[in-house]
Parts: sequence; C-alpha cells; structure tokens
Amino acid sequence: MDVVRYGRLLYEKGLTSGTGGNISARVGDIMVITPSGSCKGMLDPTELVTVDIATGKAANGKPSMETPFHLAAYRRRPDVNGVVHVHPRFCTVLACAGIPVDPALTPEGLMVLGRRVPLIPYATPGTDDLAMRLGREVETADSFLLESHGAIAVGKDLKDAFHRMETLEAHAELQYHLAVLGKGRPLPADEVRRILKE
Ligand SMILES: [Zn+2]
Repeated sequence: MDVVRYGRLLYEKGLTSGTGGNISARVGDIMVITPSGSCKGMLDPTELVTVDIATGKAANGKPSMETPFHLAAYRRRPDVNGVVHVHPRFCTVLACAGIPVDPALTPEGLMVLGRRVPLIPYATPGTDDLAMRLGREVETADSFLLESHGAIAVGKDLKDAFHRMETLEAHAELQYHLAVLGKGRPLPADEVRRILKE
C-alpha cells in the first residue's frame, strides 16, 4: 500500500519525526489516511482508515486529526490523488518565521513547485478553518507552507506528492542558507516564463 511505503520513506528521510504529519491517497470515492497519532515510519496496513470523500465519514478507526484539509484538497481538485502533510525542519523554520518559499530561486524549484507556494495564514490544527484556508489556495497551487506549523504537498498520486514535499524541503533549506549568507536572487522574469512554458 502506497500510504505505508511513502510513510516509511518520509520518516527515513527525516521529513517527519515522532507521530507528526499525516498522508492520504484517493481510491475512487474514498480516501485512505493515516490513523490519528501514528508514527509514519511504522504504519501497519491494517490500521489505515478509510473515509468517504463526499460525506467525511470514517468507515473504521480514528482518522488523522487533519482529515478536514485532506478532504478539502480532494473535493476541490479532481486531479489530486495524494496528499502529504509533514513538519520538515527548514519548511517549518520558514513557516514559523512567516517567510514564503520563493520557487524562482532555481529551475528545479519552478518545475516541481510551480510559480507559487502559498503561505497559509495560521489556523488551529484539525479545524474546518484550516481546511477552508487551504481550500482557498489549493485550486491554484500544489505545495504550501502552513504558518507556524509545517507544509503540505499534493500530487496526481502519492509518489508525486512525496517528490514535491522532498523538493519543497530541499528548496526551503537552500533558501534558508542563502538568507544566512545574504546572497541569492530569483531567476529573471523572462527565464521564469520560459521554464514554466508561459
Ligand atoms: Zn501538522
């Protein structure tokens, strides 16, 4: 099961720690999501929770507390089939400092993260308010920082969302070090358009 495989990868790569984060995949009309309070490196396939995307009702067990924003992503984006939410170190440093990620620092950033990585204003974890705030941005972006909290990446499948999260954290680390050096600048606007094929 992809949720188990990518949960372990996120944990082994140091993108999540303790019982932090939650991941899900769409399978038809339902989403399969990690259970509340679980270590993503040691998931058992039998403890995954299935939730009806239309009604939000869980068929078994207690789903992740962040179920509302996972549902918001699937309801608003029919092309999204995987969602990853974790608290990687450098993404969370920028998110706590209120500094948005600038994807235009590198071609890789633009190609994987797109033109925009919205910084979602703070809302209490697990609330409909947080889901609503993501819902406002998810139709026009694929990766996000959550102010004073962490990061979200969505993708056409869970593998795509995982790669985007890994790139987002690498990019946040690059941006952090550039800020420490007082160096670095975004690519020129015409190069950004060329890379994005606009
Ligand atoms: Zn979180």
